[in-house]
Amino acid sequence: SGGPEDMDPAIWEKVKNHPCYSEEAHHHYARMHVAVAPACNIQCNYCNRKYDCANESRPGVVSEKLTPTQAAKKVLAVASTIPQMTVLGIAGPGDPLANPAKTFETFRQIMEAAPDIKLCLSTNGLALPDYVDEIAKYNVDHVTITINMVDPEIGQHIYPWIFWEHKRITGIEAARILTERQLRGLEMLTERGILAKINSVMIPGVNDQHLVEVNRAVKSRGAFLHNIMPLISAPEHGTVFGLNGQRGPTAQELKALQDSCEGEMNMMRHCRQCRADAVGLLGEDRSAEFTTDKIMEMEVEYDA
Ligand code: SF4
Ligand code: SF4
Repeated sequence: SGGPEDMDPAIWEKVKNHPCYSEEAHHHYARMHVAVAPACNIQCNYCNRKYDCANESRPGVVSEKLTPTQAAKKVLAVASTIPQMTVLGIAGPGDPLANPAKTFETFRQIMEAAPDIKLCLSTNGLALPDYVDEIAKYNVDHVTITINMVDPEIGQHIYPWIFWEHKRITGIEAARILTERQLRGLEMLTERGILAKINSVMIPGVNDQHLVEVNRAVKSRGAFLHNIMPLISAPEHGTVFGLNGQRGPTAQELKALQDSCEGEMNMMRHCRQCRADAVGLLGEDRSAEFTTDKIMEMEVEYDA
């Protein structure tokens, strides 16, 4: 999967230069993430808050948190050093839409200073319906929603709580609100022609069988790609919130699930679960060249 042969031509035109969506493009185009979003509005049992949000990113190294102005300056510094840099994503370390002022101010500054850079965003989806208009306003053309269930009975074992309308909500009620908001947000993106990709974390014994149903639910609402990622539970990555002792899937289990969803829609198999501050071509990470200290010393023409 991941080539023009199995994609709608109109969608292919939009994603062919995007390193995450085209197997081919990921050798030629670079992407970067900036970590401007520290807060989160839900708790996932697989979260490891010492590291970056598992929405998009592999536990590994704590990302450096940036202000919107620092982030925009970093993007321009990287773009002038790595000419293949075509895509800027905001994916954490918490939820970008739980930090809307920081996230949208970053997009605003980049859109003004470097309008050719494509913007993308990943979210757990709880706040998504409230921000679809704002997302459209900044020409964000790709949104990733992490959807791990469409059944609150299963969801209660993945999400201990959400923070919603100024209160903490737990149990089945929390999962019911979350799934409604995620699916409504997906429908709203589809209505506006904004590409939506779905990430799911495969948790053996919790949602592994159920992800086939998730695949059907997101396909019928217009998602263009489904990326099923393994739970990463290796002890060297530190403790996760509420799933300690839970194993991740084997490579064979992951492949079997991806195969059973294929035919339903495009599956994405080359996502690298990059860090929230990843920089460079996929499979390479040049973030160490672009720490805040180094960027602030660089001569980049930029007025915030
Ligand atoms: Fe952690 Fe889940 Fe929030 Fe991501 S969405 S930061 S995994 S609690
Ligand atoms: Fe692309 Fe996946 Fe990395 Fe995001 S986490 S930049 S989708 S490869």
